[in-house]
Amino acid sequence: MKLWNGLFTPPRSTKNPMPPKKVTEEDLEDLEEDDEEEPLEEDDEDEDEDEEDDEDEIEDYDATQIVGAFRSVVHFIRPYFRTYRSKILLLSTGVLLEASFNAAFPFCLKYLLDDALYEEDHEALEWILGVLAVLGILISIASVAYDYLNAKVGSQIIGDIRQRIFEHTQKLSAEFYSRTKVGEVLSRFSTDMVDVEDAIMHATSWGALPLVELLTGTALLFYLNWKLASAAMLIFPITLIGSRFFSKKAIVSSYQKKELEAATMSVVSENVMAQSVVKAFGLRGISSMWFQLRNTNLVTTSSRVHFLSAMIERSVTVSVLMLHLVILGFGSYLVLQNLVYHIGGLTIGSLVAFEGVFWELSYNIGHVTGYIPALIHAAGSIQHINDILEEEPQVIDNEDAIELPDFEKELVFQNVDFSYTGEQKQLKKLSLTIPKGIKVAIVGPSGSGKSTIVNLLLRFYEPDSGSITIDGIKLSDIKRDSLLARIAVVFQDNILFNISIRENIRLGNLNATDEEVEAAARAAEIHKFVKSLPLGYDTIAGERGGLLSGGQRQRIAIARAIVRNPAILILDEATSALDQTTEAAINATLKKIGVGRTVIAVTHRLASTADADKIVVLDRGKLVEAGTHAELLARKGVFSQLWRKQGGKRSSESKL
Ligand code: ADP
Repeated sequence: MKLWNGLFTPPRSTKNPMPPKKVTEEDLEDLEEDDEEEPLEEDDEDEDEDEEDDEDEIEDYDATQIVGAFRSVVHFIRPYFRTYRSKILLLSTGVLLEASFNAAFPFCLKYLLDDALYEEDHEALEWILGVLAVLGILISIASVAYDYLNAKVGSQIIGDIRQRIFEHTQKLSAEFYSRTKVGEVLSRFSTDMVDVEDAIMHATSWGALPLVELLTGTALLFYLNWKLASAAMLIFPITLIGSRFFSKKAIVSSYQKKELEAATMSVVSENVMAQSVVKAFGLRGISSMWFQLRNTNLVTTSSRVHFLSAMIERSVTVSVLMLHLVILGFGSYLVLQNLVYHIGGLTIGSLVAFEGVFWELSYNIGHVTGYIPALIHAAGSIQHINDILEEEPQVIDNEDAIELPDFEKELVFQNVDFSYTGEQKQLKKLSLTIPKGIKVAIVGPSGSGKSTIVNLLLRFYEPDSGSITIDGIKLSDIKRDSLLARIAVVFQDNILFNISIRENIRLGNLNATDEEVEAAARAAEIHKFVKSLPLGYDTIAGERGGLLSGGQRQRIAIARAIVRNPAILILDEATSALDQTTEAAINATLKKIGVGRTVIAVTHRLASTADADKIVVLDRGKLVEAGTHAELLARKGVFSQLWRKQGGKRSSESKL
């Protein structure tokens, strides 16, 4: 009996890779109190409340949970079908052919038993077996072809979805990334996509094919004996009661599982990135405890999801068994009536064929219901993926935004107010004019809003009020790409991608020739070093540039900025993470490359600001002083105090 032999195995393994270790309840409580950002880390007592919240979030499934999940999956993948219309049509033809054959095969038992074997008609026997054999071979060949097509189209659709999510994440604003953990984004590509892939890849074998066979099989049952078929149909719905009962809870738990998987991924990614801190401070124990907290929650929810999924399937298998017993009993009674009283017209061949078709039908119900958990998991994942796809980029180009003409005169911040969270203001009525070609240093204590100015200038965020203009044109009226094409930034921690040094530099200007890349490296005074490497410019920089020293990474980042040939060069704490000697050397390089450009240098180290044309001093989001180095020292205000605190020395090398 195929139906009971692991046919309903859930699509994915439920094994927990890590058995829970001992963590005291106090530890868990402390962690839960500390971590307010994780909404799913409540006590068991709060579980009912959680479920209510989650049900609110997935109320789309209210009508009937399975149909809801099916709709949600179809709605999500339908746009991708258009590209593969002809292949999907071919696939559908294959499904129809195989379904017809599978349904007809047990049906032939009637003729085999009643007309060939019972009547001892050898010719009929040869015909029936011959036709079945030829059709069987043809259908087997056709099904291999459509398995291939299914694998190909399914994988392509999965690839397209992955691409869409990635492209969408590229459009999202800095604000999204500042509030979203890396793991949460990654989980959309990993665990969520696995569920969607399961649903798509099994759509034919577990969805469409059994569904068509169900329809043809039902028609054949009525053809064989309408009384027996009617009895079967009347009691058939009991097979669906169990799945209806369990599927609603399964959907809720599936969504919860997605959330918990994302939270667990976040802990892992955070931990990998912070390995140096973890090791230096001996945080292995507490890190494991943090992970265990998430993992324990995940284990509980995961086992619930998989148990509920198994129950959906199990309830069907049990009720189908009951159903068969009833049909066999009633069918045998009808056959006896036919044999003894010649009424009812149900022959032994018809009963055997009926049972054959009916088994096929149950087998297919099993497939379809076995597919339900996959659909439900996918619906939960799609909900989770949609959370990201529905995120709107905060900063978008105005419809009539223009290309930025050449920078001619000045960059002006006029009464700019800005807050990241809508609560405390990070910039307050900030007004600042930066004429073309000068070097401005923006200084002030940590947290005073220096980098926020850069963030606004790069349009990572929009000001709440006031305006930022370049030659009188508001930044929001300029196409973002054309604005960024005129600006280059060197950050404090510059990420180098895991590609060659040449390509890392070329990221500053994708059209740059190899000669231009090398010229930029020369200007950044890193050319000789790169040339001394065995693979020269083809050396792979290593993930996050880990193979290079801080100074070398910074020089490559400077080369990346130079190759852009920017009108405005922004240095955001560009040398703050370096030792004094390296800082002085890089400042000397920066001074050379700053000639003829507008340079905006954000720094909290005053030694490097002495030669700036203008120094702007910020304090708690307000511009408190502005002037040249000498003017500010003479004023004896905030700058002069900071200057004294930092040793009051101007390094001959540490200049802009
Ligand atoms: P500075 O560069 O002068 O050290 P920043 O401009 O980075 O200061 O930050 C100014 C203030 O804004 C700080 O209080 C900081 O905590 C806050 N802040 C910075 N980035 C964000 C953010 N993405 N979300 C919320 N607050 C932020």
